[in-house]
Amino acid sequence: MNPLSQYFRQPSIYIKLPSQGNYYPSGAIEMPQNGEIPVLPMTAIDEITYRTPDALFSGQAVINVIQSCVPAIKDAWAIPSIDIDTILVAIRIASYGHEMTFSTTCPKCQNEDEYAADLRNVLEQMKTPDYSNPIKQGDIEIYFRPMTYKNLSDNNKIQFDEQRIFQSLPNNDNAVDTAQLSAMSAALQRMTEMTVSALSQSILTIKTPSAMVTEQEYISEFMKNCDSALFNRIQNYVVEHKSQAEMQPITITCNQCQNEYKQSITLDMSNFFGRAS
Ligand SMILES: [Zn+2]
Repeated sequence: MNPLSQYFRQPSIYIKLPSQGNYYPSGAIEMPQNGEIPVLPMTAIDEITYRTPDALFSGQAVINVIQSCVPAIKDAWAIPSIDIDTILVAIRIASYGHEMTFSTTCPKCQNEDEYAADLRNVLEQMKTPDYSNPIKQGDIEIYFRPMTYKNLSDNNKIQFDEQRIFQSLPNNDNAVDTAQLSAMSAALQRMTEMTVSALSQSILTIKTPSAMVTEQEYISEFMKNCDSALFNRIQNYVVEHKSQAEMQPITITCNQCQNEYKQSITLDMSNFFGRAS
């Protein structure tokens, strides 16, 4: 036993998760009795990890930092998407305090200003999305769950690759040749498939009068073959529930013209995890 261990970093904040510990596979989280998860400040190694572009891109940086700062979470890939923002905000508070400054521009008079957000308020505004209500269509019922961080990260990577294809195309329509057109339509096809896959991952089960379907390949096939009205209902359900546990935009009053406007704050590493100096 290291006699210095009592001087190691200590939890500096305790949080309640939007998921309340639900949706985690067995062994992925150790829920304390009172439901309050201790969060430790980042170490110097965590900070370096978070600045490694490759690790950041693969999602591995976020995983490593979460598992270091939130020891109750044993498998961060399994974290339901609705807990991610809460956990990252808590790590930010534990490491650098609850105040986060950022610069903002008034859309009305273009006045630029510095603004300080209290991240404790941001945490308080996070809601627990209620996934218990199914979508009913005819005699089937569709039940939902949040995606995992692994799902989210995989989807983001595909999206990033596809966006690069679109960005590599010339702006002038006339300059697009047939090879580029077919690359574009292939990319669109893959993006559609990604949407289908992301929505399928958000479906827990589809209940029919004779079966409870949980197999991902059956659900995915159903998503490709259902009518567009139902597809859109499913998509709206997923997007709306997911956004309830995301950071909400902050209302800002302009110092110059008193205009009120909304400013989204993001978990982008440059403004979020950069040390407040
Ligand atoms: Zn203004």
